[in-house]
Amino acid sequence: MGGDRRCDATQGGDAVASREPNCLFCKIVAGEVPAEIVREGERTIAFRDINPQAPTHVLIVPREHVATAAEAAHADVGLLDEIAREAEEVAKVDGVAETGYRLIFNTGTGAGQTVFHVHGHVLGGRGLEWPPG
Ligand code: 5GP
Ligand code: ZN
Repeated sequence: MGGDRRCDATQGGDAVASREPNCLFCKIVAGEVPAEIVREGERTIAFRDINPQAPTHVLIVPREHVATAAEAAHADVGLLDEIAREAEEVAKVDGVAETGYRLIFNTGTGAGQTVFHVHGHVLGGRGLEWPPG
């Protein structure tokens, strides 16, 4: 693990995940900002999007602060796989695994990323058009 791309490690003892003080999703991970949690894993948490774009709209975020999917792919081998596995579990919880769902990582401002703590959007429960907007 080359963790050098992660921000502001707040290591105070045993494996304390690195966090970024002004990051909204770090605050949700820490329980400082409320969210409707769907699943809590060892490395990730899943919570419902505050502005859902489909009947199922869940965000899966790592407990550690990593800004983008691209950074995660380089900095933490296996993390994106874990998010994909969690997406499948969330889809099962919401009953959309059979009908299908979309797992989206908006990466960069031009692609619509607004929160720079990597998150997979799980969207399902309605027809999803292609190409996306
Ligand atoms: P992005 O645009 O970065 O891909 O996705 C960020 C997502 O976070 C958006 O879909 C937005 O609705 C969601 N979001 C923003 N603020 C909050 C919040 O305080 N709580 C929750 N649960 N979702 C949020
Ligand atoms: Zn963060």
